[in-house]
Amino acid sequence: MKHSGSCHCGAIGVDLETDGEPREQVIGACQCSFCRKHNARAFSDPRARVTLTAHEPTELQRYTFGLNTSKQIICRRCGVYVAMILTEDGRAWSVINIDTLDNRALFSQPAKLRDYSSEDRIGRIERRKGQWTPTTLVGWPDS
Ligand SMILES: [Zn+2]
Repeated sequence: MKHSGSCHCGAIGVDLETDGEPREQVIGACQCSFCRKHNARAFSDPRARVTLTAHEPTELQRYTFGLNTSKQIICRRCGVYVAMILTEDGRAWSVINIDTLDNRALFSQPAKLRDYSSEDRIGRIERRKGQWTPTTLVGWPDS
């Protein structure tokens, strides 16, 4: 099943492909301070596929904090937090903000609390490669 979405203005596109039923997917409420401030509802599944498309690359804003192991992707124009991505050796993994999808109402189940604050840098990167969604970045600006 394919689900499409984007930031509010459409500069950054989000496409999710998954075999799972929307209401059976696990939605996470990460307890880090960034996600709490956005009240972000996160989704990742290593068996799914995500494509993130920079339709307007100049509107793509990256933000990083904490252990600096990933980049938060925010639209510069409309302010929507789209996804968190990890890149390494030309590969990418992501957690998407499930509410960027057009049919977000299908994913309205309560989010499960996630607290990763006790992880170290290596442990965090390894977990993400195992649990985040393999991701294709299209039209993505360098660095
Ligand atoms: Zn936007």
